Amino acid sequence: MAVVVIAGRTNVGKSTLFNRLIGKRKAITEDAEGVTRDSLKGLVDYDGTVFELYDTCGVFSDAEDEMLSSMRNRAFKTYEKADLILFVVDGRAGITAEDEYVAEKLRKLGKKVILVINKSENPKVVEANLGEFLKLGFTDYVIISAQHGINVDVLLDKIVQYIGKQPFEEKIQQNLECPKIAIVGKPNVGKSSLFNAILKDDRATVTSIPGTTRDPVDELVNFEGKSYVFIDTAGLRRKSRIEYKSLEHYSVARTIDVIEGADVVLLVIDATEGVTRQDKRIAGLAIRRGKALVIVINKCDLVKVSQEEYRNWVYAEAPFLDSYDVVFTSAVKYYGIKELFKAIDEAYSSYCRTVSKAALNKLVSQLPILSPNLVFGELKIFSIEQVGTKPPKFTVVVNKKEHVNQQVSKTIENLIRDRVDEFRGSPLILTFKERR
Ligand code: GDP
Repeated sequence: MAVVVIAGRTNVGKSTLFNRLIGKRKAITEDAEGVTRDSLKGLVDYDGTVFELYDTCGVFSDAEDEMLSSMRNRAFKTYEKADLILFVVDGRAGITAEDEYVAEKLRKLGKKVILVINKSENPKVVEANLGEFLKLGFTDYVIISAQHGINVDVLLDKIVQYIGKQPFEEKIQQNLECPKIAIVGKPNVGKSSLFNAILKDDRATVTSIPGTTRDPVDELVNFEGKSYVFIDTAGLRRKSRIEYKSLEHYSVARTIDVIEGADVVLLVIDATEGVTRQDKRIAGLAIRRGKALVIVINKCDLVKVSQEEYRNWVYAEAPFLDSYDVVFTSAVKYYGIKELFKAIDEAYSSYCRTVSKAALNKLVSQLPILSPNLVFGELKIFSIEQVGTKPPKFTVVVNKKEHVNQQVSKTIENLIRDRVDEFRGSPLILTFKERR
């Protein structure tokens, strides 16, 4: 996805432009120097083209104190990421030494630049300053008023010309690469409420991906700049409009179907009920089908137990879940959404990870010390090799497969997690082969 960065000195209207383009009030804007402290990021969806937009903090040429100079360095780092830079100047104020300083930095970087002459409600004033602006050396310019929305569409058209059209289909195509998430759990635990809380979160933007029926089935959610596809959300969405609970909706077959299409399964549990047998069954199902898993304890506004205590209790109740994260949310209080996405990211990253051959060889060579019981019996383990991802798959070469049982398999899995990579949130699949 193309990256567009807003650059310039302080107080030229960068944040106002950012908000205008994003279409939401996200950045803090105020008529005071240095209010925007750090780079902000958002997604712009214009006329079917999607790009990432960064707002940077204002740059001071004379950054004496440490904070100002570290802010400046961060802004410069963001400039480096850009495919296109919107260099904002103040149409009323004309050129200042600070503008010259930014211009020089941009010329050195050699990026594509559109000069954005802002605060241009009065064309006469801008005209008087135009010659001066053009001396900065950027021939492509747009005269706008971010505050009043004048010519912002002209600017957007120009951006699209530069970065090229990235149509909707392509966006979906790209997002086939992003994690597919399924929200599962028993009736009434708050699945719909949680999904709706995600949609309502300020940090999330949502696009429905049309299915074969009229209902959107999957939703493309962008959360803090990353994309996720939430699959089979028709039921979750519908329920938010009318409290509709059909039995069919909760059938085991349906749960299996949803899990099947996912990379990451969010198992939602009602905090007031705790982990039930049904929850364990669903978790086991997800793991056996090789899916990454996050345990979501929802309605945590209704319980007084500390998270740590609760988490320990979940692991005591279901020890087979100890490689999986437990996060706490309240869909009604909009609590824990950010932590939930963090856990999804971690689980998905484990699910896609490949570890080095050297680390696995080292583990094999250390087996006699690490797990004498495993290797000093009749079983011999010659090698462990990672042969796939999503989830990570390993082939273990042994002398005789008949010596392998569930406990051997579990021991090797634990050794991989302890010694090579924790693969937190993802199951591992081990296949045993005899050496020929
Ligand atoms: P689903 O069947 O799993 O989709 O559950 P719903 O989303 O329909 O929620 C069931 C009930 O629990 C509704 O009355 C919600 O308002 C309530 N609920 C959902 N999440 C929370 C939460 O985090 N805290 C509290 N107190 N109630 C919640």
